[in-house]
Amino acid sequence: MPQGQRALRIVWLYPDLLSTYGDRGNLLILSRRASMRGIPVECFEVRSDQPIPVDGDIYLLGGGEDGPQALAAQRLMTDGGLYRAVERGAVVLAICAGYQLLGHSFFAKGQQYRGLGLLDLHSDRGPSRAVGELAGAVDPALGLPMLSGFENHGGRTHLGQGVRPLAQVSVGVGNDGATEGAWLGRIVGTYSHGPALSRNPALADLLLRWAIGADALPPLDDSWPELLRGERLAAVGAA
Ligand code: GLN
Repeated sequence: MPQGQRALRIVWLYPDLLSTYGDRGNLLILSRRASMRGIPVECFEVRSDQPIPVDGDIYLLGGGEDGPQALAAQRLMTDGGLYRAVERGAVVLAICAGYQLLGHSFFAKGQQYRGLGLLDLHSDRGPSRAVGELAGAVDPALGLPMLSGFENHGGRTHLGQGVRPLAQVSVGVGNDGATEGAWLGRIVGTYSHGPALSRNPALADLLLRWAIGADALPPLDDSWPELLRGERLAAVGAA
């Protein structure tokens, strides 16, 4: 948690391997929404051949194709920095491939790979690729409006007892056609691309609040993101 003048540190992990469908936007959105509240921000983009800083406040992992996903998991485990950051209480937002690799295991290119085990879940392959709009009511414990996103994945994710679903699916597939994403403590995983935070500004603010230890943040003019959300949710009958 930043104290005094210390800037909020947002770390985007492995943009060289995990970055699809505009996942970089999540970094930009968090940074912008913090700056507009007068919170100083420092952004770090850490490639997979660089050491992971352990003093970040928010870590972002994006989506990726099978090969880069397997390589990213291996390098994240070898580095170990993300484990230490989570032990320190850092916030993590992981999208799609990044979400799958936080579990115990996942499938890529027909092979099972070990995941980081930070979330109690595992992923296998579904009967077909899940591609399209994704929407669902978010776990009431998080106090967020409906999740809206775009998904594109071959994997299906099965949650263990140690995590809670992020949302109940009403449109799309998410984890398994019933639930979508998972969360535990300050770690959130989701299949929502888009990027996720452009369609879900309240989720962005939740991550910021966790990171700075605030119960609330001054409101922003969210007319544009709300227009986008409204349009996408209405298009799939989830508004
Ligand atoms: N490779 C993974 C899958 O197909 C994740 C895909 C993604 O991140 N979009 O399930």
